[in-house]
Amino acid sequence: MEKLSNPQVTIEVIKKYNFAFQKRFGQNFLIDGHVIEKIIKAADITKDDIVLEIGPGIGTMTQYLAESAGKVYAVEIDKNLLPILDYTLSEYDNVTVINEDILKLDIEELIKKEKGTLKVVANLPYYITTPIIMGLLENHIPAKSITVMVQKEVASRMQAGPGSKDYGALSLAVQYYAEPYIAANVPPNCFMPRPNVGSAVIRLTNWDKPPVEVKDERLMFKLIRASFNQRRKTLQNGINNSPELSFTKEQVVEALKKLGINENIRGEALTLEQFADLSNILS
Ligand code: SAM
Repeated sequence: MEKLSNPQVTIEVIKKYNFAFQKRFGQNFLIDGHVIEKIIKAADITKDDIVLEIGPGIGTMTQYLAESAGKVYAVEIDKNLLPILDYTLSEYDNVTVINEDILKLDIEELIKKEKGTLKVVANLPYYITTPIIMGLLENHIPAKSITVMVQKEVASRMQAGPGSKDYGALSLAVQYYAEPYIAANVPPNCFMPRPNVGSAVIRLTNWDKPPVEVKDERLMFKLIRASFNQRRKTLQNGINNSPELSFTKEQVVEALKKLGINENIRGEALTLEQFADLSNILS
């Protein structure tokens, strides 16, 4: 069949199956082949790769992935899309569709017999972007990279460094596990229906080992959360006020002194390395 990236073909398929878009599942389908080609290029998909696609929708990007990858696992929560995917992917014998919530799926179990390199590729449902990405990173799924379409603002937050208004707990959490690279900006008219916000494609290349050495990861992330929960306060106040932590201001000031950092610094000025050093001193 002709590709679904042709908007006319998408409209025909949606009519044929009388499909009703579900807002609660964040359904905005791609209708632009150039954008899909950019995603595949950013993800550097080859026949040696196993792709995990989160939310194939009616299979628009899946058609391209099936042509470029060795194998595709496409995980879709909406069972109303299953008959459509049967039809739109019938030409491809290397795609397995799984009707499951990605947040509940055991990915390691799914791919345990596969030999290729795992890469995650998705036009993500925006209502659960952060839980999906943090779940993939924190659970250390054995993927080489995660290339995803997200809200433009979320992509900026993931890539931001100290001094930027977008810098926050998400930037540090993502950058602890992976190296972010924004590969493209995508306007609303590339989707059906059009979202209200701009989008961007971001590739996260997982580090083989974290870029900083941390004795207690949980403590470091508690310190990060405490610093950004109260962005306008100094780091020592943020940490002191955190219900998750029990350090006194004096302990924080002493640790900052040891690191040669001004005691009145705000958390938003600290690098990942400095958060790592701080947590190593306090642990
Ligand atoms: N990949 C398609 C495309 O680009 O045209 C659809 C992308 S659409 C933004 C997001 C897709 O994720 C929808 O098909 C939606 O039903 C699915 N989805 C939403 N929540 C999900 C979840 N928790 N697990 C798996 N799929 C989900």
